[in-house]
Amino acid sequence: MYDLIVRAKNLHIAIEAEKIVQVAPEILAPSRAELRFLELHAVSGVVDAHVHFNEPGHTDWEGIASGSKALAAGGGTTFVDMPLNSIPVTTTKAALEEKLELLAAKSLTDYAVWGGLTPDSLPHLEELAAGGVMGFKAFMSGSGLPEFERSNEETLFQGMQIAARLGLPVAVHAESERITSALSTAAREQGKTSIRDYLDSRPIEAELEAIQSAVLLAKETGCALHVVHISSATGVELVTSAKRDGVNVTAETCPHYLWFCDTDLERLGAVLKCAPPVRSAAEVEKLWRVLEQIDILGSDHSPAPPSMKTDADFFKIWGGISGVQSSLEVLATAAQKRNIPLEPLIQRLSANPAKRFALPNKGQLEVGFDADITLLELGKSWTLEPTDLHYRHTQSPYLGASLTARVKHTLLRGRTIWDGQQFADPQGKFLRP
Ligand SMILES: [Zn+2]
Repeated sequence: MYDLIVRAKNLHIAIEAEKIVQVAPEILAPSRAELRFLELHAVSGVVDAHVHFNEPGHTDWEGIASGSKALAAGGGTTFVDMPLNSIPVTTTKAALEEKLELLAAKSLTDYAVWGGLTPDSLPHLEELAAGGVMGFKAFMSGSGLPEFERSNEETLFQGMQIAARLGLPVAVHAESERITSALSTAAREQGKTSIRDYLDSRPIEAELEAIQSAVLLAKETGCALHVVHISSATGVELVTSAKRDGVNVTAETCPHYLWFCDTDLERLGAVLKCAPPVRSAAEVEKLWRVLEQIDILGSDHSPAPPSMKTDADFFKIWGGISGVQSSLEVLATAAQKRNIPLEPLIQRLSANPAKRFALPNKGQLEVGFDADITLLELGKSWTLEPTDLHYRHTQSPYLGASLTARVKHTLLRGRTIWDGQQFADPQGKFLRP
């Protein structure tokens, strides 16, 4: 007798002691409880390996409680928190311990943590690894925060040597500091402060140069490299050719690079500001064409209060997009519009990040995996409104979007954490790689 059977349109899933014990088109065996969603599509819970929940220190920007609720309402069951925008940044053992304590108390979903790779953190990488970080994040261009300094080639080289020895990946924000700072400085000297000027200051070339240099260092050190939020097809193709060359490297992009283009940025403004910026409509199409070569889809959820999102000078506006709740709904909608299968997208939202970052038993609706299950309604049109959002600040570039996929129910290890109306109490577990 099973603990629970979840019956969806596409699958029946039997659960015992938090784990999936049978998956089949139909399960006839008896169970102590059952959830019937015969009109809904069951998929694996989203594993979002790229979020900034900003706690401790900036709970007024987001925070673990609201961030993890928004994730769950968007079908997510695991997140990996980035080391910056919290105070302190996660670059020491003490900072990691402080963050882990807050996560244990407040997270609705399971979680893992990125440590920071900065010039200052090199002596701390080993203790961060011992504390359970999943890998290290570095910025190749300025992060915008003085307490999270960018890594130049020497820092990155040393950090990758240490990470390789520790058996952990390094994730890089890949934009060339040389190119982006020269272009921004030149623009500002000419008094250019518009959205278009900002776009022109961060060209695709800046991304390509940084990817190439990170790949070289990864090849030299044997470190596993993960390139976050790649905005161009050529960037993805650089990763693919490095893989063919034997480099241990993966490519991530975000839903916003697949959904929005530069004219959307000119229309929506601050709420869609990010770095690298969204690209031309033609580039968006090219990015869709290399989907097969993209390993991971992450939200790069990085909110800030509305007060930091208004300035006549677009360069001065704080960058970062609120998207953790929308990844699955937006991408499933895009799949329907484009008439492409949902499965490859789910794989990149869930199974691939879990595998790449060695998150145990996560990311697949298969026997032996955690019963992290999301129920999706497909094909019914709805519009995303501010009241649908569970963020600290109800801002999102996706507001007003007409969507045809909607998360109706989310289970974490066999327990309902979001039923379409209400959230369960915090019950997230720390995942060590
Ligand atoms: Zn980020």
